[in-house]
Amino acid sequence: MPNRRPVLIVEDDETLRNMLTEYLEETGEFVVSTAADIEAADKVLANEDAHFDAIILDIGLPDGDGRDYCARLRRAGHSMPIMMLTGAIEETDVVRGLDSGACDYIAKPFRASELLARLRAQLRNFDRSEQVVFPVGPYTFRPAKKLLHDTAKNRRIRLTDKETAVLKYLYRSDTAVNRQILMHEVWGYNSAVTTHTLETHIYRLRQKIESDPAHPALLVTEGGGYRLRPEMASVERW
Ligand code: CA
Repeated sequence: MPNRRPVLIVEDDETLRNMLTEYLEETGEFVVSTAADIEAADKVLANEDAHFDAIILDIGLPDGDGRDYCARLRRAGHSMPIMMLTGAIEETDVVRGLDSGACDYIAKPFRASELLARLRAQLRNFDRSEQVVFPVGPYTFRPAKKLLHDTAKNRRIRLTDKETAVLKYLYRSDTAVNRQILMHEVWGYNSAVTTHTLETHIYRLRQKIESDPAHPALLVTEGGGYRLRPEMASVERW
């Protein structure tokens, strides 16, 4: 299923962790990774391929305080929504949680449906925000600014609205996206856009982002459509 968003749950309560994992994955919107403590979370995040759109973080963890961990993640440059779970409901804790850089705060016990609603809201906000940055090959991709930045070469590439939308949609999909689906998602279901238009946009995007546009490494043709391979970090550049 395309478009499933990676979420990390850091929670030492195994029952709750499994319940939340199952609940979120059943929606078909998320693919969940888990960690039972801070040490395990660090290992998951240190993985080169690791990318998470959101983190659900318990405050009371066996090897530290989730709020301190949240603050550490922010200092390390992680900007995704972080939702705190806690057993303590004192207001001071809420304030401290938000001070540490958490986006939202849910007191246990909570309904999974409430967490889901708030997670979706956080992701919507974040997607619209200026900070969201996706790694795409040698670039950092800032959809809000319609910009790709090759930090190693300090080269900036401006994208059009549609190029940005295409790239963003492909980034969100684990797999190849069929041309029809991509056209519907980017131009809308009622538009009369043709395959030729889509192909023209893909052609221009490749001219901008590929080191060899005739042999694309990042934006490849696959399965009746296209696939973005953002992990192709070591693409040869000019
Ligand atoms: Ca706990």
